[in-house]
Amino acid sequence: MAGVAVTNVRKSFGAEPVLADVSLDIRDGEFLSVLGPSGCGKSTLLKLIAGLDIADSGEIRVGDRVVSGVDARRHDVAMVFQSYALYPHLSAGRNIAVPLEMQRLNGFRRLPLLGRLLPGTGRIRAGIRADVEATAAQVRLSHLLDRLPRQLSGGERQRVAIARALVRRLSVLLMDEPLSNLDAQLRVAMRGELAELHRRTGLTIIFVTHDQAEAMSISSRVAVMMKGRLQQVAEPRVLYDRPDNLAVAAFVGDTPINLLPARVLAGGTVEAAGVRLAFDGVPETAAGLQMGIRPEWLRPADAAAADTWTGVVTGVEYFGAEAVVRLELKGGHSMTVRWDGDWALPATGKAQPVRIKPGRGLLFAASGDRIGEVRPADAGLAVAI
Ligand code: ADP
Ligand code: MG
Repeated sequence: MAGVAVTNVRKSFGAEPVLADVSLDIRDGEFLSVLGPSGCGKSTLLKLIAGLDIADSGEIRVGDRVVSGVDARRHDVAMVFQSYALYPHLSAGRNIAVPLEMQRLNGFRRLPLLGRLLPGTGRIRAGIRADVEATAAQVRLSHLLDRLPRQLSGGERQRVAIARALVRRLSVLLMDEPLSNLDAQLRVAMRGELAELHRRTGLTIIFVTHDQAEAMSISSRVAVMMKGRLQQVAEPRVLYDRPDNLAVAAFVGDTPINLLPARVLAGGTVEAAGVRLAFDGVPETAAGLQMGIRPEWLRPADAAAADTWTGVVTGVEYFGAEAVVRLELKGGHSMTVRWDGDWALPATGKAQPVRIKPGRGLLFAASGDRIGEVRPADAGLAVAI
């Protein structure tokens, strides 16, 4: 087993840095996702770890071995690509066997006729077959080993690609958007399968995706990357509740976080669109602040009060378990509220007061960094203006 340590890695293609000083520690046996928008450098990072490309500077370790600058075959990591890259003319079983044949059979032994004549080839082939069958059982492919890739579903092809990586008994598995070719339902099912596979094998998995829900639901930690820089590496819950900056706050969560212009009053009190909340860690002189409120951190109030925002309902999207209600506040600010399935839905055009839930609310500086959180003791107790 092995963890992976990436230290101060830089990579440029031409003048533009694609990875700017990336450092990331992945623990032995961890399932870590690298999450970021398309083009932010995720695949480049994975290729460097796999040894398919070389960093301009910095160090990469797999286990206790430095692998940066070392031939790809000696990185001892397996990679599953978005396209799976299966050989179309070989059966699932043969596809899984290829890496073992390359490892265990020299060039002559791989020849169909001569190979058979060389002593020992049969024994080696039997060993390969046994390993392929054991691995196929692990990913529930035993009954499909004779099929060609085109006779398999997307999810089954995916399992062949994973089996081909697993069969080498390497301890680190790199996956580059492996679910992105699957339809929506299968993607969700495969998330569960991957989590299960991780539990059973104890592999160290680095999983790349641009889908925040996928990253959040599947991994023990998520590394958010933007424009070649890591923004935050944290457990999904921390990433969601306490994003380090506006970029992370905006990227994580499927209904965007509400942002209201805010100003500091005396004693750590912050005002946004007419409502005051007590915050910790707020500098008195800060300007250009924004209060961040996730849509489900709000709930409807019976009547307008000093601690409520009141807005005109401009839209209601109903999803069954919940609804998303859009409000237009005085001053032209809009607000999105996630409506619990049990609450009566408001009518479009009506005024609707809402209140923040206890302990919720973030404050961001003009730079985008999170600088404050609602003071727990006063949480939800807004101060009347
Ligand atoms: P992601 O996987 O996050 O979508 P990539 O790592 O593939 O992003 O690419 C990051 C940036 O680097 C992109 O702007 C891409 O065009 C550029 N890039 C990647 N590989 C190469 C290459 N071999 N030559 C030139 N530019 C590249
Ligand atoms: Mg990519």
